[in-house]
Amino acid sequence: MLTWKEVINFSVKGNPTPDKRVEKTEAEWRAQLTPEQFRITRHKGTERAHTGELCTAYDEGKYNCVCCNTPLFDSTIKFSSSTGWPSFTQPIKENAIKYEKDTTFGMVRVEVMCNTCDGHLGHVFPDGPEPSGLRYCVNSESMILDKEIA
Ligand SMILES: [Zn+2]
Repeated sequence: MLTWKEVINFSVKGNPTPDKRVEKTEAEWRAQLTPEQFRITRHKGTERAHTGELCTAYDEGKYNCVCCNTPLFDSTIKFSSSTGWPSFTQPIKENAIKYEKDTTFGMVRVEVMCNTCDGHLGHVFPDGPEPSGLRYCVNSESMILDKEIA
């Protein structure tokens, strides 16, 4: 299980190697995504709280990257945080997520991205429920729910 200490280590010393990489140009991403998905995932945007479709979704399934379809989280690690964004306590796999220190808006936060395509997802905070203590706060627009369980 990942802990805050490991998350900080990834953001400072480098991230785990992803299983594969997906790289596309701005124009290719723009053509593939809706304007809101493009703004959030490729330009580090944030959707308004409580507006995301997946906030209140608790169906079983995997939450995949909307850009490259790589599984990022699943329904077993989703929890209701009342923040207005889908929240998770762990990534589906250690190397699914990429971490980077984010000092915008006068705060020090840890940004989370898809480790496969660098799509912006949201941030991770050390105030989640036990045992990991992590709260991945992720834009609904950055993910698609795949309800088919393998
Ligand atoms: Zn991706």
